[in-house]
Amino acid sequence: MTQEISTARRDANAKLKLMETFGATSFDRPYFAEICDNPLTGAFRKKAVVHAGIEGTAVPQEVTANVWQTLSKTQRRGKTSAYIHIPFCSTHCLYCGFFANPAQKDKMQAYAKALVRELEGDRDLDLVQSYPVNAVYLGGGTPTALESSDLKRVLDTVRRCLPLANDCEITVEGRISDLSQEKIQACIDGGANRFSIGVQTFDTGIRTGLGRVAGRETTMERLSDLKQTNHAAIIIDLIFGLPDQTMETWEKDIDSFLDLELDGVDLYQLIRFPGGSLDKAARSGRFKTLADQTQRALMFEAGVNRMARARYQRLSISHWGRKFRERNRYNLAMKEKTDCLAYGSGAGGTVNGHLVFLNGNLDAYLETAGKTKPVARIMTPSPHADLIALISGSLELGHMDLRSAGSRLGLDLETIFSPLTEQWERAGLITREQGWITLTLAGQFWQTNLAQGMIDYYKQPSST
Ligand code: SF4
Repeated sequence: MTQEISTARRDANAKLKLMETFGATSFDRPYFAEICDNPLTGAFRKKAVVHAGIEGTAVPQEVTANVWQTLSKTQRRGKTSAYIHIPFCSTHCLYCGFFANPAQKDKMQAYAKALVRELEGDRDLDLVQSYPVNAVYLGGGTPTALESSDLKRVLDTVRRCLPLANDCEITVEGRISDLSQEKIQACIDGGANRFSIGVQTFDTGIRTGLGRVAGRETTMERLSDLKQTNHAAIIIDLIFGLPDQTMETWEKDIDSFLDLELDGVDLYQLIRFPGGSLDKAARSGRFKTLADQTQRALMFEAGVNRMARARYQRLSISHWGRKFRERNRYNLAMKEKTDCLAYGSGAGGTVNGHLVFLNGNLDAYLETAGKTKPVARIMTPSPHADLIALISGSLELGHMDLRSAGSRLGLDLETIFSPLTEQWERAGLITREQGWITLTLAGQFWQTNLAQGMIDYYKQPSST
């Protein structure tokens, strides 16, 4: 898969894990910033959350099936995506907290068949057929771990069963080590028009330490080959803050991406999960260096500046695209919290603001897929779901129009948030003009703190 942050946005188990690991009570989340000389490095003590606005109330287990029945009759009328989860990986990357199942050939073949059954079983639901689907995302895990024939079969079934918009973005996530020409061709024949490849770093030494299989040369070659197909947007993920990564190797990573002239890139900050393999390795002194918060902030700044100099278009806080091919639809839709149809063991989706989690137990999924929808858990929307979606979707783009958001919700958001926004402006995190707030470079680095800060501030009894 491309990166644990991406996974966390769409994989139900990951999302649940994030809620448990980084839940509201486990984090110290002051929403006012420090007034200091350098807000980029000093505005907050640490990142408040991984993703802002993940909340809801669990539906009791005994009524989950009934709630799903009701949701499955929903007539969708808005922007929609579909997420297909492939929960297999050939190795367990050191930094990743979301490894689910080893890539065993027989299990993966059975899984592809089960996915087809699930897609076919849902095909005639009102929820599925009522409105076009704008983006499809095969994520994981590692979708390209599947055999070529299974990749093609799943993609063909997606196109047969879902009402895809004519300009639907169809993304396949992949790893360099299993990106053969045959698999690339199978995906393209299946209709994929976007590949999202988890590179993380081009540096062979760092890659090996993380458990990534291919070295720099192979990585560069495979990406070049993928680009030569000229059938799809090619996007990669790079991570800053990796073990033994320096500012020099980080800048070299970005330059390598620029040399390849690919269509887009995500620049993500490393997440260190407490108690995870990376955390344990770091505590045991295994790494020469591991960037702290200040160094990661400076790496973020270097990345933003380098991408600006290269004239890539900034499509969100962490994503850049080039020319006409890259749209980044799926990832933006996740931040806007729009409807997302979910398929596959461990997948997570959204229907009418409800978070729907599918069974992450592989054997149970294989048994039930196609007979009944393998829904494991549903969470009802927060009472503030509309506001949360507006904050999350807007700040992902680096700005928010408080006046127009307020008029949509019947709230004077400019006044409600003024104590907060006035303080953030003094702290150097935002600028304010005619109802708009715009994140400065420092504000962009602390974007999740700001988004979660607005949500927490709004929910405190005295703010409204
Ligand atoms: S390929 Fe690595 S990073 Fe991606 S889900 Fe698997 S273990 Fe995690």
